[in-house]
Amino acid sequence: SKIIIAIDGYSSTGKSTIAKQLAKVLGYVYVDTGAMYRAVTLYALQHDLISKDEFLKEKLIESLPDIQLQFHFNAEKGFAEIYLNGKNVEEKIRTLEVSNYVSQVAAVPEVRKKQVEQQHKFGKEKGIVMDGRDIGTVVFPEAELKLFMTASAETRAQRRYDELLQKGEKVTFEEVLENVKSRDHIDSTRKDSPLLQAPDAVVIDNSEMSLNEQFEKILALAKN
Ligand code: C5P
Repeated sequence: SKIIIAIDGYSSTGKSTIAKQLAKVLGYVYVDTGAMYRAVTLYALQHDLISKDEFLKEKLIESLPDIQLQFHFNAEKGFAEIYLNGKNVEEKIRTLEVSNYVSQVAAVPEVRKKQVEQQHKFGKEKGIVMDGRDIGTVVFPEAELKLFMTASAETRAQRRYDELLQKGEKVTFEEVLENVKSRDHIDSTRKDSPLLQAPDAVVIDNSEMSLNEQFEKILALAKN
């Protein structure tokens, strides 16, 4: 029978790659919760609520009712893309600029509360793979399978750097490494549902593991 699979872990550990592949093979729905926090961050940037100099947190909280997020399945790509107030923002949320602000936005309890409510609804029907930072601990503590993915900061930064370069973003490796480390720090030290390993999570350190090796291991766990 269908289950809930929760995948948590540090930034750029390949959670979404594994989650998408798993959802495809199992015929499950994949939900990328990082995309939700990224979309809220994009909204904050578009409305000048966040910049290097200030973060108008109260204004963002007031604006939350105006931020509608939806996922629509893209058959060509094989996964659901995120829409912010009716617009597909799947590409726009992946920039280094959004990455640089997202952890501050995600640390706001009101922002989390709203996202977690929506995430809960996705889980009403089993057969879901959800990735994020607090899925196995806060969103679905009852998930039948929990994975916690980790790898060295350098390995993760290198992967993210290669991705951004491929998309034509002008970034340096150092900037990306700095972003990965800073998000790790904010995500694991925030007061409200910090990034934590659930006691019953299976830890996957993939610094030295190929995607195929990881996938085989995880698929076996999911089928157990
Ligand atoms: O998964 P991704 O790296 O796209 O997530 C972007 C950011 O969103 C994370 O660094 C974290 O600050 C936040 N996030 C979160 N809780 C989640 C998913 C993501 O706080 N469940």
